[in-house]
Amino acid sequence: MERFDLFVIGGGSGGIACARRAAAYGAKVGLAEPGRLGGTCVIRGCVPKKLMHYAAHLGGAIETGRAYGWRVAQPELDFRALLEARNAEIRRLEGVYARMLEEAGVTLYRAYARLASRGARPHEVEVGATRVLADNLLIAVGGRPSMPEVPGIDHAVTSEFLLEEVYDRPEHLVVVGAGYIGLELASIVHGLGSRVTLVYRRELPLRGFDEDLRVELAEALAREGVTLRPGTRVARIEKTAAGVRLETDAGNIDADMLLYATGREPIPNTAGLGLEEAGVRMDGSGTIYVNIAYESNVPGIYAVGDCSDHAGHGFSAAQYDLTPVAIAEGRAVAERLFHDHPQLVNYDTVPTAVFAIPQAASVGYSEQQARDLGHELAVYRTRFRPMLHSLEGGPQRTFMKLVVDESDDRVLGCHMVGEDAAEIIQGFAVALTCGATKEQFDATVGLHPSAAEEFVTMYQPASRSRNRASEKRS
Ligand code: FAD
Ligand code: NDP
Repeated sequence: MERFDLFVIGGGSGGIACARRAAAYGAKVGLAEPGRLGGTCVIRGCVPKKLMHYAAHLGGAIETGRAYGWRVAQPELDFRALLEARNAEIRRLEGVYARMLEEAGVTLYRAYARLASRGARPHEVEVGATRVLADNLLIAVGGRPSMPEVPGIDHAVTSEFLLEEVYDRPEHLVVVGAGYIGLELASIVHGLGSRVTLVYRRELPLRGFDEDLRVELAEALAREGVTLRPGTRVARIEKTAAGVRLETDAGNIDADMLLYATGREPIPNTAGLGLEEAGVRMDGSGTIYVNIAYESNVPGIYAVGDCSDHAGHGFSAAQYDLTPVAIAEGRAVAERLFHDHPQLVNYDTVPTAVFAIPQAASVGYSEQQARDLGHELAVYRTRFRPMLHSLEGGPQRTFMKLVVDESDDRVLGCHMVGEDAAEIIQGFAVALTCGATKEQFDATVGLHPSAAEEFVTMYQPASRSRNRASEKRS
């Protein structure tokens, strides 16, 4: 039986990053992936989503261009051509990942893998029709969309359909769920010309984000033309001649496509993997508990990315189900095992963006989180019309917010809704990682004319006192 220093189950963001880094340090590495190489991010997540975001954004740019004198005939989107071009690019990237693994010397098994031994080292792994031995085993199997048990749920699709398949543009898309995926896809499909209704059960979208950001983004989506149905619960779904009918506690909604974006879970990716038999501790959703070194309770079995819990680091599991986090965790495992270089991922300043139109992005603590942690705060806010839209006099607004600790002047959080928010917040994530103070923000000369300069020119705090108003909403 072939024996590996490291065997990786899952060829997504975390698995590939760990395998490549370990192989670079001379480890003998195997990796199993039965599906398409690249995992959720490349095949049915970040990348196809961002390509469609660009498409929607460009449509808006054509309209803005008219105010700048561009005379353009009524533009028309070839929706299927967009999806086919998107898929061709994803196929190209799949090939790039296969080549990268080959060049790194990683042995690739195009098969489903499961643990066949009971927790003793070396771990025996069944990979398709063969078996291998692994001194160290990394589980990086990711997650899948989860849908609630609503009667008629079979008539709904998930983000996997919208981002992987080729289909006709819906006339009216209803999206249930107002987290990352719900907001992004609602916004993107609306930007591509469809009528979109966003149904969610709370008063505001994006639970967990800064409350001002949540309010601003909801208002911005409504201004763009997405119909928001907050505080709405779906009782049942029926097939109709024209598509689907949702029966909700606030009346019926008819649509020709229904997207459920109600979260993701590692089940069934961790189910049937042989982990329970080996004694690996998991929570009820199949998430693997790991310690600070990403090792499970069974020596030599590690887990990173969406299928692992961050409890060892003091965070809930789903809070950081992001590609760069999976990559950083995968690399940290390789560094510790094969380079004697223990690395800690800095979860405090993980930047994140919601690729809606407009974008929303954050790094650090929300105002509420900072207060809950006992910080006395000075909060700075600014809201302005972006210069890009000044000629058309459009309703667009950019919102920025800084959460500052009054006791030591450290900037604890940066939040933004507006054009290029993702690009801007990535830069400020460096500043927060370095522990920048508000005084250092003030001492930084702005880059003019830009939106980003507003982050270093906010002078007076908008509020100082403890403001409990936001606690009323949830
Ligand atoms: P995955 O990338 O899911 O990879 C797991 C792999 O394991 C899969 O390829 C699967 O086939 C394989 N596998 C499963 N079981 C087995 C088995 N038994 N044997 C072998 N292989 C197996 N994050 C961002 O940072 N930015 C974004 O813009 C963003 N957009 C997203 C959009 C969508 C629609 C979705 C769904 C997610 C998005 N994410 C984004 C999150 C990001 O994609 C994930 O956090 C990331 O892909 C997790 O990586 P992973 O390695 O844990 O798992
Ligand atoms: P999220 O957890 O972000 O959002 C799920 C949404 O569904 C919430 O609005 C939630 O409401 C709602 N919901 C959950 N259960 C039900 C139910 N039974 N009935 C009605 N509504 C329900 O999950 P997503 O699927 O949007 O995304 C999954 C993960 O993927 C994200 O957490 C993120 O880590 C990652 N991702 C990252 C992206 C990025 O970085 N740009 C983009 C896309 C995904 P409530 O708040 O009330 O619980």
